[in-house]
Amino acid sequence: MSKKSEPNRNKIPPIGWVELIAGAMLVLFGASLINDPVVSFKGGVEADISPFNVPAAAVSIGIGLYLLWNSMSKTVPDETTCPKCGEVFSSDDTSVGNCPSCGSKLRK
Ligand SMILES: [Zn+2]
Repeated sequence: MSKKSEPNRNKIPPIGWVELIAGAMLVLFGASLINDPVVSFKGGVEADISPFNVPAAAVSIGIGLYLLWNSMSKTVPDETTCPKCGEVFSSDDTSVGNCPSCGSKLRK
């Protein structure tokens, strides 16, 4: 960790990078399984899983998409500041369109 303050850090949405990368790898792995049912392991070992490659690919892509979705849903929704009372809340709170604190109309 850097000891220097990073003013731009807040601009980066807190995506779950581990899930994002793992999900992308699983999707790519699943996609490659459909085209090529031979899985290569380190050390030159290869396994032909052709009877199972499509379901295995589906599972892999499914988990991958789930992880991708999870990573995306970790992003903080846009924060809205009430123009009247200055209260800050997430867009989830403002879906009704009014400030939960003072009830004044919020602009999107
Ligand atoms: Zn308000």
